[in-house]
Amino acid sequence: MIKVLKSPQEMLEWRKSAKGSVGFVPTMGALHDGHASLLTRARGENENLVLSIFVNPTQFNNPDDLKTYPKTWEQDLALAQRLGVNAIFYPQFEDMYPDKYLYKISESSFSNELDGAHRPGHFDGVLTIVHKLLSLVQPQRAYFGEKDYQQLKLIQGMVQAFFLPVSIVPVPTMREDSGLAMSSRNLLLTEENRIKAPLIYKTITTAISANEAQKILSDAGFKVDYVVDKDGRRYVAAFAGDVRLIDNVEI
Ligand code: AMP
Repeated sequence: MIKVLKSPQEMLEWRKSAKGSVGFVPTMGALHDGHASLLTRARGENENLVLSIFVNPTQFNNPDDLKTYPKTWEQDLALAQRLGVNAIFYPQFEDMYPDKYLYKISESSFSNELDGAHRPGHFDGVLTIVHKLLSLVQPQRAYFGEKDYQQLKLIQGMVQAFFLPVSIVPVPTMREDSGLAMSSRNLLLTEENRIKAPLIYKTITTAISANEAQKILSDAGFKVDYVVDKDGRRYVAAFAGDVRLIDNVEI
């Protein structure tokens, strides 16, 4: 039976009683096949599998984005059960931030570029919550998607910087047949923008430069935050209507 753990204390108690290795997949819920690929990988490599579902307010710079973030608890629970999750950690804000966010983890270089340049404070929120979650779950391995490549790199950097006893396992981006990267936010797209959204992946994989990709997407009606080539990857963030989508590919 899957255990739903609602407080840090419950999480720590469960952890103490767990025998063998623990694999951990942190998420914000509204689970899709991208999350499922992390869970499946983790299931195969660990004796125990912990999923966390927590929509972390400190990483949202836009209150509307936080308010409209999709929530699909019943489906998430069913998927977790199907994929052999042993425990779901499902805390509330007050549980995770007894300090009211007076303490934070902050990186002062790469976190200011790309998404960080457009979402002030976003990566402080991400690193702080991941650090808290790793302290509670104490996994041998934690799984993160390449879909959020900048996030993955910053988390790897944090783990090295603080000597955290965990291996970070990167998992390739799961895409729909159209090439669109799976994302919880895809649920919020209008029918028209759902048809248009695959152009983001198509454009960043085919344009000869970041500038050209930016122009193609702007001309197609996306509001483009950035397309940037850096260290062998092309990163993009663009709005389809009100929904901000990100993606990246190796170049
Ligand atoms: P989120 O719930 O969006 O915070 O994502 C939780 C984890 O799932 C993060 O490590 C993401 O990078 C990963 N993830 C989200 N979408 C995908 C995807 N399409 N393919 C692979 N991993 C993903």
